[in-house]
Amino acid sequence: MSITIKTVPCLSDNYAYLIHDANLHETALVDAPEAAPISAELDSLGWNLDYILITHHHFDHVGGVEELRKIYRPKVIGNKNDRKRLPKLDIEIAEGDRLQLCNRDVSILDVSGHTIGHIAFVFPGAAFTADSLMALGCGRVFEGTFPMMWQSLQKIAALPAETMIYSGHEYTLANGEFALSLEKDNTALNNRVENEKKRRGEGVPTVPSQLSLELLTNPFLRANTPEMKKIVGHSDMSDEDCFAEIRKRKDSF
Ligand code: ZN
Ligand code: FE
Repeated sequence: MSITIKTVPCLSDNYAYLIHDANLHETALVDAPEAAPISAELDSLGWNLDYILITHHHFDHVGGVEELRKIYRPKVIGNKNDRKRLPKLDIEIAEGDRLQLCNRDVSILDVSGHTIGHIAFVFPGAAFTADSLMALGCGRVFEGTFPMMWQSLQKIAALPAETMIYSGHEYTLANGEFALSLEKDNTALNNRVENEKKRRGEGVPTVPSQLSLELLTNPFLRANTPEMKKIVGHSDMSDEDCFAEIRKRKDSF
């Protein structure tokens, strides 16, 4: 039996995710931007909340934890290396650890850069990446360095290409505009942006997206390609330098 994943829109443009295994009646939440929409979804589905998985310390990812903790008594799971800035953790984990959640083997990646201590939860076929790798983009580099963020994105890029990427925000159309400003002749990118516009027009989330498509269209993942290096610099620049240049341009786009 496969797991069910429900996307829960929160705040103005955040996504939280409910992961449910029907056999075990077990439910895990990835990030808690606010409690109300999440508890409404849980209650309408008749699910309890067994775990909250925290990706990073920003308020728009943890703001609902305490209220949900009071209602459902879940175990809260997060990066032990960032415990001081996170809500109280019941289970502390770090990169390399494995968990059994919703009857699935889950591994942890440290994807620092947006924040130091940002982690991703990797279920078979589904990676929860929050503000590291995003649809057609990546998070702003607030605490880490550009090379650190690039290395983090490479860990996600190395997952099986069919992996679905569940990221933390609906930023895809703005990301697409920026991506097209760099690669207006990228056919896969043009097709994707058209597609995403249609989905947004119908009020459908553009997240998750498949890693294979990100590799073809996401400018930040394309920082190791000769095409992208030529566009933002020169063909013999390093992957890290190319990534840094793209990230800086996005910050002022
Ligand atoms: Zn964030
Ligand atoms: Fe965020």
